[in-house]
Amino acid sequence: MRRLLALLLLFGCAGAGRRGAGGEETAPIDGRHIVVNGRRVAAGTRVVLWTEPGGFRTNDFGTRKGEVRQIVLHYDAAGTSAQCFKVLERRGLSVHFMVDLDGTVYQTCDTSVRAYHAGKFNDVSVGIEIANVGAYADRAELERLWPVPQGVARPPHLPPPARPGPLRGRIHGRDLWQQDFTEEQYEALGALVAALCRGLGVPAEAPTGKGVLRSPEAWRGILGHYHLTAQKTDPGPAFDWERFLGLVRRNGP
Ligand SMILES: [Zn+2]
Repeated sequence: MRRLLALLLLFGCAGAGRRGAGGEETAPIDGRHIVVNGRRVAAGTRVVLWTEPGGFRTNDFGTRKGEVRQIVLHYDAAGTSAQCFKVLERRGLSVHFMVDLDGTVYQTCDTSVRAYHAGKFNDVSVGIEIANVGAYADRAELERLWPVPQGVARPPHLPPPARPGPLRGRIHGRDLWQQDFTEEQYEALGALVAALCRGLGVPAEAPTGKGVLRSPEAWRGILGHYHLTAQKTDPGPAFDWERFLGLVRRNGP
């Protein structure tokens, strides 16, 4: 019986591994690798692929025109990765990675395909949605939504923000309140982005300011969504760039 189960698992995994979103060969399932353009790359953090049980597989992707030059960070405004995926699906949008409150990384499709998360930058970018309810001008609104909005399934393990908050900061001339991301999210994101920089040959560098880049098309490296357009404020004023970049470097891109 045990042998039969092992065989079933083996064939199940092999089957799943051949059907990547985008048609590429995907990595063996070991929970610590991401898939970068059909190749497995060690991420050094817990990863659930779209081919695995409990994973999220997007079908809302297109053909990439151009090579990846940018890694774009978002907050999901949904509160949890499961809710984020639901909202993206409903809106015909997608993102390559989601980082949940407990630091679990979900990959929803290969980096070789174009996901829909950053408008005209989709062709040249990989997107990451970090679970967080977002930033608000009205502190009361944030307090109403945080840690997860009403009606959203509350995860069994809900880690506290890395720094006590809410924190306040200014983006594109707007004063905003936001709760910090969790320790687990910073750790996972540092490992994930280091692996992506390594796998994609993208520099582990981010802009120093919070303004829109003078020529965002020309940037090679890591970006917040707000560096691409004045319409966006994510990953928000609470995102600790210094800490995050330190973790990326520690993970050796
Ligand atoms: Zn965004």
